[in-house]
Amino acid sequence: MIIILKHSATDAEIEILRRNAIAKSLVPQDISSDGARMIGLAGDLAGIDEDEFLRHDCVDKVVRVKEPYKLAGRRFHPADSVLDIAGRRVGGGNFVVIAGPCSVESEDQILSVARDVKLAGASFLRGGAFKPRTSPYAFTGLGLDGLDLLKIAREKTGLPIVTEIMSAEHLDRFAEDVDVIQIGARNMQNYTLLRQVGSLAKPVLLKRGLSSTIDELLLAAEHVMAGGATDIMLCERGIRTFETATRNTLDLSAVPVLQQKTHLPVIIDPSHATGYWHLVEPMSLAAVAAGADGLIIEVHNQPELALCDGAQSVTPQVFRRIMTRVGRVREAISIDN
Ligand code: PEP
Ligand code: MN
Repeated sequence: MIIILKHSATDAEIEILRRNAIAKSLVPQDISSDGARMIGLAGDLAGIDEDEFLRHDCVDKVVRVKEPYKLAGRRFHPADSVLDIAGRRVGGGNFVVIAGPCSVESEDQILSVARDVKLAGASFLRGGAFKPRTSPYAFTGLGLDGLDLLKIAREKTGLPIVTEIMSAEHLDRFAEDVDVIQIGARNMQNYTLLRQVGSLAKPVLLKRGLSSTIDELLLAAEHVMAGGATDIMLCERGIRTFETATRNTLDLSAVPVLQQKTHLPVIIDPSHATGYWHLVEPMSLAAVAAGADGLIIEVHNQPELALCDGAQSVTPQVFRRIMTRVGRVREAISIDN
C-alpha cells in the first residue's frame, strides 16, 4: 500500500501516521521521489482498510499495490540503491569486489590472503567461519574462533568482513563483529533466519538458493527488509540445472533481470557458480560486461591444500590478473562515466 501525502503534510502529522501503521504491524518506509511525498506500507495488508489511512488529514491518496516485493522492488524505489558499507559504496555504478577464502583456516592463511586481495584492489574480505557442508564429516569451519581471525585480518588490512551466519544463536556476535552478514544459498528460504538477520538492520549479502527463481530471491530479500534491514546485496551464485560440466549453472541473465525488478545491487559469484578456478576469470569478465554491481571471488594462498572449495579457488596471482582485466572490461563498457 502506498500513502501519497498532501504537500501541506507536517512532520508531526506524518509521525502519527507512521505510528498508526506500526501499531497495525505494518512497516512504513519513506519512498518519496521527484517531489512527491509518499510512504510505502509493507506487511500483512489483507485485513487493512484504505479508509483507515485516508482519515488522516495529511493523506491525499491511498493506493493498494499488488507488487509482491514492495521494499525490494523498483516500483517504489526507482533509483538504484547505493549502499555505504564501512565507507565502501556499492550499487548505482559503484563496483565492488569481495574476495577471500571459502573458509577461514588459520591466522596465517587469512592474513596472507587478506593482504594479497587488498593489494590487488578488493574492497571486502570474505571467509566462512560457519560452513554449510553437504557431508556431515567435512570441515565445518572454525566457528567463533574463525570470526576472531577475521577481525584480526580486518584490523591489519582495513578490509570490512563478509561472513555467513548459519544459526540465530550467533546473531549477537554477528551484529557486533561482522560488516556484511552473508545468508547462504541453503538458507535463502530460512524465513525465520531472514527476518532475524533483517532485524539487526545491518548490511546483508543474500545468496540465491540452489533451485530458487529470481522472484523467490526477491521475496527472500523482502523478508530481510521487512525485518528492518535496507542494505542488501543480492548474489547470483549459480543454480541447479541438468548440466554437470560445472558445479552449478551461472544464470547471467539474472543480472539485467534483477536490475529491472529491484533497486538493490547485484553481485555475481563465479566461484560457486562454476566450481573450477579456471572458469572464474571468464565468468567474472562476462558478469562485468553484463552490468553486475560486483563480484565475490574465492581466493586461497594454497588452493591445493584448502579445507573447502579448493578446486574453485584462484591463487592471489590469478586474482590480480582478474582484477586488471575486470578493470579493462569496465572501461570498455562505460559510456558516460
Ligand atoms: C560460500 O560463499 O562459501 C557458500 C557456501 O556459498 P553458497 O551459499 O552460495 O553455496
Ligand atoms: Mn565456498
